[in-house]
Amino acid sequence: MKVVMVGAGYVGLVSSACFAELGHCVVCVDKDTSKVAALLEGKMPIYEPGLEEIVAHNVAAGRLSFAVSVADVAAGTDAFFIAVGTPPRPGDGEADLSHVRAAAAEIGTCVQAGSVVVTKSTVPVGTGDMVEFVIRSVRANNNVEVVSNPEFLREGSAILDFMKPDRIVVGTDSLWARSLMGKLYEPLTAEGATLLNTSRRAAEVIKYAANAFLAAKISFINEMADFCEATGASIDEVSKGMGLDRRIGEAFLNAGPGYGGSCFPKDSMALLATAHSHSVALRLVESTIAVNEARKRAVGRRILNAIGGVGNGKKVAVLGLTFKPNTDDMRESPAISIISSLQSAGASVTAYDPEGMRHARLYLRDVAYAADAYECVEDVDSVVLVTEWDEFLRLDFRRIASVMRQRVFVDLRNAVDVSRLAAAGFAVHRIGHPQAP
Ligand code: NAD
Repeated sequence: MKVVMVGAGYVGLVSSACFAELGHCVVCVDKDTSKVAALLEGKMPIYEPGLEEIVAHNVAAGRLSFAVSVADVAAGTDAFFIAVGTPPRPGDGEADLSHVRAAAAEIGTCVQAGSVVVTKSTVPVGTGDMVEFVIRSVRANNNVEVVSNPEFLREGSAILDFMKPDRIVVGTDSLWARSLMGKLYEPLTAEGATLLNTSRRAAEVIKYAANAFLAAKISFINEMADFCEATGASIDEVSKGMGLDRRIGEAFLNAGPGYGGSCFPKDSMALLATAHSHSVALRLVESTIAVNEARKRAVGRRILNAIGGVGNGKKVAVLGLTFKPNTDDMRESPAISIISSLQSAGASVTAYDPEGMRHARLYLRDVAYAADAYECVEDVDSVVLVTEWDEFLRLDFRRIASVMRQRVFVDLRNAVDVSRLAAAGFAVHRIGHPQAP
């Protein structure tokens, strides 16, 4: 089948490469000419493990190509996917749908009868109606269906998530559109993937509800971590004991500096804004957001306390800048607010991240970037582990300790073996654990 994917970002590019890997003929379109030029030269505009290989393989096989205009490549397309960004609108947190609207209008000029237009971007309930309206007003064609097919992949494991999904959600009431979508995903369902057919509105809500639930789980465990610290319990033991209950599950029970990334913060805000516009109160979602915001500020204070309460003249090394390991995505990373609170208190910051420093420069000011973790910690008063990249867990902590001014280690992910840190002479601060004497 022929697929046109509009948007070559984390979702669009990964989905394009994966659909091509499944045997479809895919053209991935982006209005960003520099992105497309890089892709045509075989260079990836983002870091995602395995992406370069799967793109190269499918380009070589003639199943994957790139373009800047939908109209140029539309002929014979079975499914047009919209995978453009839906960033928060400044001021009110609602999803900015201008890119979705523009993509729909462009598709509308060239879509043929019998094709589907599929929204993969995360969009508020009812957006499918808007996409349909835009397409029909550009081209009066009643035989085009607009389908919601939200994407659940996670950056860092995006290819595996696409190829082995927990579920594929297809939102449309049209039987022929369901059948077309079923054929598109047949290589995955034949391998046992679950495809859930729903109404378009239900599909749109599922994506937001799932993200809000996961965000709530994180905020919940972070509050429990504070409770553990105050009462002398270990959050690691508590998380394990909770997670063994199959009704709860062990995922998303890692206490940390608060959730970030390009999805949870923006999607929970957008869900709340949509609910308000329907006069519905979502108190749990509201509290989840408030807890997360408070947490980010509290983490900054906590690091300052660890280095003696004042920042002036202090040097802090930040290991890890991206919102999680194995991505270069800096959007809403907790590192941004942590570094800004350290700087506001007068501390200077050096930082190192294996993949995130290129994007970090767009979000952070006055940070000295190091070439590696060892250079990052030279002559600092404290190390703060913000993102638990594998390479940080394998560091030689004695070597780290030997070049620091003070031996304070703040592990915001409870990721490093505490006995190795203690053996290297560190005063260790962990989330959700009583401070060792
Ligand atoms: P992104 O910012 O990485 O990529 C979006 C791309 O769309 C950009 O390259 C941009 O140039 C392009 N674009 C915008 N308007 C265009 C147009 N009119 N024509 C052609 N290209 C256009 O965004 P992303 O992270 O891939 O997210 C895309 C959507 O998927 C969002 O709604 C997001 O919430 C959702 N989503 C993201 C993830 C994730 O982990 N990043 C996971 C699931 C769902």
